[in-house]
Amino acid sequence: MKYQEILNEIEIELSKKLKSGKIASYIPELAKIDQNKLGMHLYCINSGHYGFGDEKEKFSIQSISKVFSLTMAMNLVGDKLFSRVDVEPSGDPFNSLVQLEYENGIPRNPFINAGALVIADVLVSNLENPKKEFLNFIHKISGDDSIRVNDKVFESEKKFSHRNAALLNLMKSFGNIQNDIETVLDLYIYQCAIEMSCHELTTAFMIYANGGKMLSNNIQVISTTGIKRINAIMQTCGFYDEAGEFSFRVGLPGKSGVGGGIAAIHPGQYAVTVWSPLLNPKGNSAVGMYALERLTTLTGLSIF
Ligand code: GLU
Repeated sequence: MKYQEILNEIEIELSKKLKSGKIASYIPELAKIDQNKLGMHLYCINSGHYGFGDEKEKFSIQSISKVFSLTMAMNLVGDKLFSRVDVEPSGDPFNSLVQLEYENGIPRNPFINAGALVIADVLVSNLENPKKEFLNFIHKISGDDSIRVNDKVFESEKKFSHRNAALLNLMKSFGNIQNDIETVLDLYIYQCAIEMSCHELTTAFMIYANGGKMLSNNIQVISTTGIKRINAIMQTCGFYDEAGEFSFRVGLPGKSGVGGGIAAIHPGQYAVTVWSPLLNPKGNSAVGMYALERLTTLTGLSIF
């Protein structure tokens, strides 16, 4: 497949397209990002790296971090994790409190905030130094020790985390949070404030495209059953309440974040990341979604 030619074509198409959408501003530090940023990087299992634009510039990974925390939690506690968090699409916004009340504190899936907070609770229970080990995990799968948290984004979200604190309190009242609320919230905000480039994220996401193994050294990071589960959850729950639309238009498992990133994979083929900060009304990068739609259309390949 001539991936660089296809990416070049997508870049030209995007330069002619009128950009729509809004930058996430509920975390004030994110609102400072230049809305014209645009990068795309594809890492093919058989033929290596391709990309364009701001593909090497770091951005806030936000909810994309939920895929990494889920992977770590599954490795730590296995399938019993899914007695505390379900695997169904929510159909509600990512930070909704409503469903949790009538579903007895069991979040619909690990990618809505409530679910990711339960996962953070599992990490706090099972790791000696959860923040350090979370970052180490990212260093390992991306092969890059320079990846860090953006302290300003971390502090900025800390000041406006009342809703996530409310989710934690509600779940604690149902007995589904075991640790101190502040500690769990702190880890969750920390993981969201990590900064990575399209190039780095794509390399980290290779484990999900490559049956759970790192491509660089063939080390199995998560079992093939684990990969089946994580990719299925990305497919059905990875795009807030727009996972159906993403499947319909793009046809790849993936995860988006309010920093404007989308990371996706084609199992056995490639990992790919797009970054463009303007979000559509559902909170997904508008240009990112379009770029990935063009990728699967121009290659003629999706998972369907
Ligand atoms: N840290 C963000 C929050 O909890 C993540 C949101 C996202 O990327 O979906 O609001």
